Amino acid sequence: MSPLATDSTWLIATSHPIQRAGAWAVAVLAGRTTPQDVTHADLDAVAARLVEDVMAAALAPKDPDSAAYGWWKVLLALYPNSKATHNKRPRDHAALLPEILALFVPDAPGSPAWPCTFCGVPAAVLWTKKNLPLYDTDKMLNTLPPGVAGWPICRGCRIAAWALPYGAWVTTGSATVLSCEQDAAEREFSARNVLRAERVMQLGFGKAGTGARPEPVVLRALKALGPDLPAAATLWSFKNDNQHPWLRVTQTRRAVPRFLATVEGNAEPRRGWRLLELALTRRDKAGRPVTSGPAEAARLLFEAEDGRSRSLPAQLHQLLDKPEKSWSLRNRAALTRLAFIYAEEILGMNPDLKPVATVIADWIEHGGGAPRGRLAEYRNVALSDYKLGALLMQAHFRLTFDGRAVAATPEDWRPLIQQRPRAWEQRMLLSATVLQLLQERGVAVNERPVDPDDEARTELLVERPILGDEDDDDDRGAA
Ligand SMILES: [Zn+2]
Repeated sequence: MSPLATDSTWLIATSHPIQRAGAWAVAVLAGRTTPQDVTHADLDAVAARLVEDVMAAALAPKDPDSAAYGWWKVLLALYPNSKATHNKRPRDHAALLPEILALFVPDAPGSPAWPCTFCGVPAAVLWTKKNLPLYDTDKMLNTLPPGVAGWPICRGCRIAAWALPYGAWVTTGSATVLSCEQDAAEREFSARNVLRAERVMQLGFGKAGTGARPEPVVLRALKALGPDLPAAATLWSFKNDNQHPWLRVTQTRRAVPRFLATVEGNAEPRRGWRLLELALTRRDKAGRPVTSGPAEAARLLFEAEDGRSRSLPAQLHQLLDKPEKSWSLRNRAALTRLAFIYAEEILGMNPDLKPVATVIADWIEHGGGAPRGRLAEYRNVALSDYKLGALLMQAHFRLTFDGRAVAATPEDWRPLIQQRPRAWEQRMLLSATVLQLLQERGVAVNERPVDPDDEARTELLVERPILGDEDDDDDRGAA
């Protein structure tokens, strides 16, 4: 149920993610702490600013390098049939201005009113899809009941609807908004996006150094909450389009703020995260980043609704298990530590895998023949439940037969080889532990030795800030 506006409440942040993001944007633009603090005068001021920016965008010449034209494309993606974006809009300032002003005028006193579609306060203005940045509501809004001219939208919600691109993470084709259990994170996300929108409006998308994806912005907002506030976050990315509107929803787990605090507060996992960012950065032949590593690393903490997203443990496993990639022992240990901290903080697991890993490492090192061959054998079965079980039995018998101590019993490894939740993650952690143990013992786990030049380059980069700092070069040019 929506809280009702009182005489002193002019804007309500509802549970609708898009309206809510717009309401936060209004609050940030007005310099208020929360949407509830926004005054009537604030609404006037924000509306005046929207009108100015919308007019500049709508009248901008079609120049791909122009910042105003870039902002017009943002508006086009959100309000494709509005007066500001329609092909047949007036190109004359005096002719267009009244149309844009009309979007945000206060309701005429004494006019008939209905409850606002979003927040329920009396609203006298009816809007159709034309002016609303709603994903996938094409059908809903175009199939209004006969005789109904539109949806009643109150002034606060009308202004919020057009403040949305300031508080959302926008591209020229889509927008992304955040819902979070903690208002502080929503405000932080909005505030950073308002700064970004201002840069984009001044410099254009190309020159603003605007970052490649919204996920690092969310992680910074969650990090700012500190370790003691568990908070799940949901990202809604959408495009409002006549032909192909779409919506994608991804979520983070509640323990992410704590995980981020642990990573940031401890040198080894912090190094691991930075190595992950570096490993995920892709550059073109001229050395310019084409994929932002910090953004890609941040994405690993978001899970898609359909379950088809990469996970952090899987990505770390892929990096650590690559025979052609030569990690120094220090860097391998840092990435492995990061995987264990994720398991502990996010998945609630704290397995002691050292004994079972020791059995495998002993077998690889001493089981007869070249360790490289047995390492390859282990790598092939490392993630399979029953094949790993068979290998462990083989290792157990071989070590026993040779009169060696066996560090773990079948009881110890049973949880790893069963088909049960998190057994797969445990096998990945086991693999990371085995590889680290072998490298500590001096058994070659990579095809090539560590290249000192590569190592020196990594050292230079690894001490830089983590989580995609806004001025990070890795972010540039990848938008
Ligand atoms: Zn409303």
